[in-house]
Amino acid sequence: MKKLGFVCIFAAAACSGGEPAGEESASQSAGAGVKVYALDCGRIEMNDLSLFTLGEEYDGRTNSAADMCVLVRHPDGDLMWDSGLPMALNEMEDGLSNGPFHVSVPTTIGDQLESIGMTVDDIDYFSISHSHFDHSGNGNMFAGATFLVDSDERAHMFRAEAREDADSFANYNELENAETVEFQGDHDVFGDGSVIILAMPGHTPGHTSLLVNLANAGPVMFSGDLYHLNESRERRLMPKFNVDVDQTYASMDRFEAMAEEKGARVVIQHSLSDFEALPQVPEYLD
Ligand SMILES: [Zn+2]
Repeated sequence: MKKLGFVCIFAAAACSGGEPAGEESASQSAGAGVKVYALDCGRIEMNDLSLFTLGEEYDGRTNSAADMCVLVRHPDGDLMWDSGLPMALNEMEDGLSNGPFHVSVPTTIGDQLESIGMTVDDIDYFSISHSHFDHSGNGNMFAGATFLVDSDERAHMFRAEAREDADSFANYNELENAETVEFQGDHDVFGDGSVIILAMPGHTPGHTSLLVNLANAGPVMFSGDLYHLNESRERRLMPKFNVDVDQTYASMDRFEAMAEEKGARVVIQHSLSDFEALPQVPEYLD
């Protein structure tokens, strides 16, 4: 693991739009029995925040970021959304410095699952917001689950250039042979409107966000890396390494319209304050 694998490639194919994300009445009843756990899947010190905007807004600034994975427990199966930084980092007491980033893993996915009486083998479905190193870092851990993936992202993560980034690729290469469901546009994971993977391309060609409609907590939208900081959402800022600027703005528009229409709680997965505001395992939202 020598590079963070933030390799960019231009993708002309747009996959925004898609099916409407569940009827209001269906989603409210559908959330019964669904639980959401926010897992700590690592920490990232961003030593040069200027990478995270096209302009000069972040010049000279740093940021401490979370790296959140989300476990969704549904009566019909368990979904792991994103897999964070490689768990091997947990054995490195001081973490690892890597260009403009310092990454560390204070606690493991296995230990957090154990605290709620689960193991990795219990995960039925695995999906990622996108295939960057800090989201696919334990992909192989979930190669026994059914891999739910946007077809543009699957093509991106298994393209020749991704394979050449050997250290990052080795973290998720086994997903290539996992039982796979590919989709374009939004994907209703359980077919009842409760858990919907949202097409939000631009950061990568097949970048996605996650909407979970909960019976008590209401709708919650997990950003993936549509935004990295709360401030980026407020100011509509995107990283220099996004693959498509126009697609990203269109995804921001769609995400915000949906969040407003649903009155959703928005969780930015790299926001430490958003992570800390969520119940910590073994507690959950339902
Ligand atoms: Zn990320």
